[in-house]
Amino acid sequence: MLSDFLNLFYPSLCKACGKPLLKNEQIICTYCHYHLPHTGYHTSPDNPVYKLFWGRTNILFAAAFLHFRKGGRVQQLLHQLKYTNCPEIGEHLGQLYAFQLKQESCFAPIDVIIPVPLHKTKQKLRGYNQSELFASGLASGLKREINTVSLRRETATETQTKKSRFSRYLNTKEVFAVSHPERIAGKHILLVDDVVTTGSTLEACVNTLNQNNLCKVSVATIAAAL
Ligand SMILES: [Zn+2]
Repeated sequence: MLSDFLNLFYPSLCKACGKPLLKNEQIICTYCHYHLPHTGYHTSPDNPVYKLFWGRTNILFAAAFLHFRKGGRVQQLLHQLKYTNCPEIGEHLGQLYAFQLKQESCFAPIDVIIPVPLHKTKQKLRGYNQSELFASGLASGLKREINTVSLRRETATETQTKKSRFSRYLNTKEVFAVSHPERIAGKHILLVDDVVTTGSTLEACVNTLNQNNLCKVSVATIAAAL
């Protein structure tokens, strides 16, 4: 009753369109759910996200849940997820996508889901990693393990303290590294990120995971801005 009462004065709003949610709606209103711009990429192996990585790195499959359009619902959802402390959006989108991926045999051999990590300073500031929330929704929907320890993001300079300040400056870029390789050795990883644009972050992660043929990697993102 209290929540009904509060809802009268402070209605929960749809995270995609900002209109008040009805009593039986959660996070995204029915209208926005119906109008989400699904890519359907998971049903076609040679889709644009997969082609983005051709000749760049070695992945098995790639897909994105939604199309990203400037000013559209997906941009609004991602903005709310990243900047307005709404972690539940990530988990919700992961569960929605898991429902689609479950029907596709190419995603069946996935063993472990790994989110693209944030740098630890950034994660402390934001309070959470939005890709990890999406990964968590996917993991619960697909009934797979999630691994947030085997792939780390660090600033290259952290390991290059002996170099001169100028060359340190030139080397200030983020790199990825593997911890606990035994936990992912020989496994098929689903690497997960929020948006794929140029693919360079995902490419760096895949190359790190693929080193010494450690594991096989496929890729899934919330959105594709191609
Ligand atoms: Zn809506």
